[in-house]
Amino acid sequence: MFRILANDGIDPIGKQLLEKAGFQVDTDHIPQAELFEGLKRYDGITVRSATKLRQDLIDACPNIKLIGRGGVGMDNIDVDYAKGKGIAVVNTPAASSLSVAELVFAHLFTGIRFLQDANRKMPAEGNSKFNDLKKAYAKGVELRGKRIGIIGFGRIGRETARVALGLGMEVLAYDLFEVPAELDIQLAGNITVTCPIKALNIDQVIKESDFISLHVPFCEKPVLGKEEFDSMKDGVGIVNCSRGGTIDEEALIEALNSGKVAFAGLDVFDNEPNPRQDLLSHPKVSLTPHIGASTNEAQERIGTELANLIIDFFKT
Ligand code: NAD
Repeated sequence: MFRILANDGIDPIGKQLLEKAGFQVDTDHIPQAELFEGLKRYDGITVRSATKLRQDLIDACPNIKLIGRGGVGMDNIDVDYAKGKGIAVVNTPAASSLSVAELVFAHLFTGIRFLQDANRKMPAEGNSKFNDLKKAYAKGVELRGKRIGIIGFGRIGRETARVALGLGMEVLAYDLFEVPAELDIQLAGNITVTCPIKALNIDQVIKESDFISLHVPFCEKPVLGKEEFDSMKDGVGIVNCSRGGTIDEEALIEALNSGKVAFAGLDVFDNEPNPRQDLLSHPKVSLTPHIGASTNEAQERIGTELANLIIDFFKT
């Protein structure tokens, strides 16, 4: 019987599929430092972003034949090293795209109507403060007809574009690779509509967008820094549901304080899981703890896909 350690958890559907196929699946989390001993008993391990699989751990556990990553980013795994040792490394890149895209809009709607600040400041009992707050939040805006600039037009960038198009927004997009001129979006009633995408260079996207959403992988140098913020429209809204490190946080705080940036919605940030204090308490910042894929639907898809990949690998 093959033994799998689901060290960062797995959806019950995935666990059931594996057990039905004859695998033993353990979901009790083993702390990172104890994995050097604990992982030796297993044939395979699945992780999300928390558990790190670095060279020393891979070397210490020669029985491991497969590493499964539930989700997209593999930055917590030394993928090439593992593959070099003959270990299969699999992930489920598309399973969470829609959930992440929807979180982008949770942050966008929050920012344009000041919800992050309103939630913190609502008075416990109705009093005069209530009217002060009504005035403070009187200058909300609508999304329809506005321009969203999407940087990184892969799986999640495209899902974000589809939601934006459905809301009647104009989509400007930049990617290192060619951006399609149009995208199909599915509406209720099984109706498919083809909508245009405006492919631009990164400087144009930054200059011309009312809102900018990042969907790039981790990069050594931030995609948005002081120079980029300076060239944005006044009052732009920024959303980052991609990876910490893709925005220069010092420059972002400066741009928020000067009013250049009206709000920022961040699911990812430097030094996760501890955001810097001036981001955490900033009235123009909506923060979430890296929950882009944290929906029932995405977790079910991830669990099912991961289980099928593991079954295919060990049983064929
Ligand atoms: P993807 O590989 O499908 O798309 C990424 C795109 O970014 C590619 O098309 C690539 O060409 C482009 N790109 C890379 N560097 C770029 C740059 N400097 N400028 C412009 N484009 C660039 O990946 P995806 O599935 O769309 O995921 C995008 C990001 O979202 C990743 O960082 C991933 O880790 C992150 N993510 C976050 C969550 C969350 O919980 N918040 C969940 C899943 C994925």
